[in-house]
Amino acid sequence: MHTYTKTPHTALAIFAHPDDAEIACGATLAKWATQECHVILAVATQGDKGGDGDDPNRVAEERTRELLEAGRVLGVNDVIQLAYLDGELANTVELRRRLVTLIRSFRPEVVLTGDPTAIFFGDLYYNHRDHRQLGWAVLDAVFPAARQRAYFPEAGDPVDQIEVLLSATLEPNAGVATDGFTEKKIQAMQAHRAQLARYEHALDQAVFERARQAARLAGLPGEAELFRLVRGGA
Ligand SMILES: [Zn+2]
Repeated sequence: MHTYTKTPHTALAIFAHPDDAEIACGATLAKWATQECHVILAVATQGDKGGDGDDPNRVAEERTRELLEAGRVLGVNDVIQLAYLDGELANTVELRRRLVTLIRSFRPEVVLTGDPTAIFFGDLYYNHRDHRQLGWAVLDAVFPAARQRAYFPEAGDPVDQIEVLLSATLEPNAGVATDGFTEKKIQAMQAHRAQLARYEHALDQAVFERARQAARLAGLPGEAELFRLVRGGA
């Protein structure tokens, strides 16, 4: 495990649902946002099935408000919604075209998403289909699509040398020290009231505990978030 100390000039976080990025890498995004990194948060679905039977349009509107509030808390520069239907994400050519367009527009050095190869987390849960579909779509968009002009030539000039940080991974190899930013991560998570209300009392303690545990694994003294760093070729 190595310590990832670089602050990128531009970082693009792409996640499936409105609360995923905060849980996965909220402290890292908040830290980079204070260090003059241009942080873009792109959310693929509206999270419209998160309401457990409530009107999906109303749920989507509420989750958009929560997402924008969480984005403000983290200090991200842009929040972009691709507005696919919750639970129906697929790694299609159309999704990859939209992701490549984002990547070629913002030209990030670092893209963050969830590790699509992480499926079974012990006997606790297994990874959501949307997370797996999106993780593969993002990896496919970074390499080879975004770096080769022949893919989606209308989407702008190619971008290469992108590092991908995969969160929610079973094979972490990089830790970002996030001391002092776990609080912001928790605040951003709390913006997603509708989804996280049932965990509210335990949330602070659980998130701090995980941040300290991640730091221990990364050989860092305080708090951290862990990732699997991958590159689509040099
Ligand atoms: Zn999710």
